[in-house]
Amino acid sequence: ATPMSVMVGVGRGAQLGVLVRNAEALERMEKVDVVVVDKTGTLTVGKPKVVAVKAFNGLGENEVLRLAASLERASEHPLAAAMVQEAAARDLALAEPTGVESPAGKGITGTVDGHRVAVGHAAFMSENGIHTDHHTATAEAFRREGATAVFIAVDGRAEGLVAIADPVKDTTEAALKALAREGVRVVMLTGDNRTTALAVAKRLGIAEVEAEVLPAHKADVVQRLRREGHVVAMAGDGVNDAPALAVADVGIAMGTGTDIAMESAGITLLKGDLAGIAHARALSRATMANIR
Ligand code: ADP
Ligand code: MG
Repeated sequence: ATPMSVMVGVGRGAQLGVLVRNAEALERMEKVDVVVVDKTGTLTVGKPKVVAVKAFNGLGENEVLRLAASLERASEHPLAAAMVQEAAARDLALAEPTGVESPAGKGITGTVDGHRVAVGHAAFMSENGIHTDHHTATAEAFRREGATAVFIAVDGRAEGLVAIADPVKDTTEAALKALAREGVRVVMLTGDNRTTALAVAKRLGIAEVEAEVLPAHKADVVQRLRREGHVVAMAGDGVNDAPALAVADVGIAMGTGTDIAMESAGITLLKGDLAGIAHARALSRATMANIR
């Protein structure tokens, strides 16, 4: 490739908020036929908020939230931040948790005020011997609205759930339409629940969803698509997305996301505006046409 035309492409990209870290990413972009997109923080704003708290038994809603938030202080997950923020808004006095363990993509356990507390998704509850079957209908109702249902168990019993929702970015719909016009296949990739993911996908017209994917397996999804012969771009923002960004033909990080995602990607979208993906393809075509 002629460095000059690539440099021009990189410069134009910068004007559009598309920061090209390596020239190969720009060169490959025109051949990309599948874009895999993380949900939280990539399609959505990444600032989830608590929309409801439900108590199943004797404990009140505020006590359910207080126990969850006391534990989640120890987590850096965006869902954890949402619970801590809601507890603060309700003036709840949080306790200091001990013995905290937080397996990635599952939830968190520990001791709060002498009680064993677990917070996380239904499968994580099962892993901890806690039954949530009686509350599936309640959780599903929130999920169908696109919210994430997080269960709270105290001393081995499900005591409530917190529904947390993250709005879709204003720019997402137009960006996806631009990709659809170019015949690019879009796949949503998320660790979140299948019903929640499908609700958000439906709203955005995304037909393909890979949900409930553990952080360690996100890269496998990208690799599988590459083995099928596709040229794959992966767009993501989180620590969880970094391995998938690194194995994609083109890794695209959100400038609003984590440093580790940006370090693993060839392209960064300055304001996290996904329109940058179509811009990058156009730039790539122009750049490569110049070279040929
Ligand atoms: P995403 O792909 O949206 O970034 P993750 O892989 O980080 O999602 O997490 C997947 C799911 O695991 C979440 O939707 C949530 O149900 C659960 N989870 C992960 N971390 C936590 C936490 N700190 N507290 C509660 N639930 C969590
Ligand atoms: Mg994310």
